[in-house]
Amino acid sequence: MTRIISLLNQKGGVGKTTTTVNLAAAIAAEKNSSGKFNKVLVIDLDPQTHLGLHFGIDESATSGASVYDLLMDESVTAKDAIVKARKNIDLITSEVDLAAAESELASKTDRHDLLAKKLGPMLSLYEYILIDCPPSLGLLTLNALAASKELIVPMQTHFLALQGVSRLFETVQMLVGGINPELGVTGIVLCMHEKNTKLAREVVDDLQGFFDASRESDVPWKNCIIFDPPIRRNVKLAEAPSFGQTIFDYEPECAGARDYAKLAASVISVFETKTVKVVVEAPSLKSRDIAAADSLNEPI
Ligand code: ADP
Ligand code: MG
Repeated sequence: MTRIISLLNQKGGVGKTTTTVNLAAAIAAEKNSSGKFNKVLVIDLDPQTHLGLHFGIDESATSGASVYDLLMDESVTAKDAIVKARKNIDLITSEVDLAAAESELASKTDRHDLLAKKLGPMLSLYEYILIDCPPSLGLLTLNALAASKELIVPMQTHFLALQGVSRLFETVQMLVGGINPELGVTGIVLCMHEKNTKLAREVVDDLQGFFDASRESDVPWKNCIIFDPPIRRNVKLAEAPSFGQTIFDYEPECAGARDYAKLAASVISVFETKTVKVVVEAPSLKSRDIAAADSLNEPI
């Protein structure tokens, strides 16, 4: 089963692209249950085209189709749009024209489902598909949400973070309730984290309280966790994109690489750790049963 995960936050600059690139690289370095390396497809749905650039791939230099062509042109298949980014990582690039797709999509009848339909034939090829969303909740994001099974929300622990997250979740619930009721929020990734500040601690406590209070309700974020570890602020993570490199290409021993490797392990195992432990209680003996048992021992 392919895990299709959208990396979503309606704010820009919170770490979505950095997390998509480095999480993809770290997941592709891990082996799956059949002993083979995970195959990962990453999709750039942001017209800023940062995802491809971060991998060192300039969309204008590739002759293939972009995600814009994939969405707008019925005859373009996902296979036509895929370029190889790294060993075991394929990429569908974005392009600046994608900004126009928001309004162009509006006139199409199947406007929510275009990406989901195009990805269908690709599912047997990948263990993971990661979608880097634009910082908005328009039709492009809706296509990502309709195609995904999970959401991961990269965010920073700043003032009003909880308010932003709860509003984002409510909007997501409203948007996808009808078109993708199976979509669940898997977790939050704390990016550029400075764990020793009082503000960061307070925000994390507030978030944790919010999720704990949601466990029993029927909302898409009822199983949401705050991923461990948070991604520390690390200048190497900010430098790597200008070399077109993942953090594992650029500085594999740095704190940022270690954090993303551990995060990948947490993301891979998240459903394993969430299995409910069923405790079978020994039936309690009632006094009546004890009396009955005793009577069997009485000499006849
Ligand atoms: P988004 O995709 O949400 O707009 P980015 O991933 O592009 O956010 O990150 C915004 C900026 O912050 C980029 O310049 C990126 O290099 C930098 N950045 C992201 N994560 C970290 C980190 N953990 N430490 C330092 N800089 C970071
Ligand atoms: Mg981005």
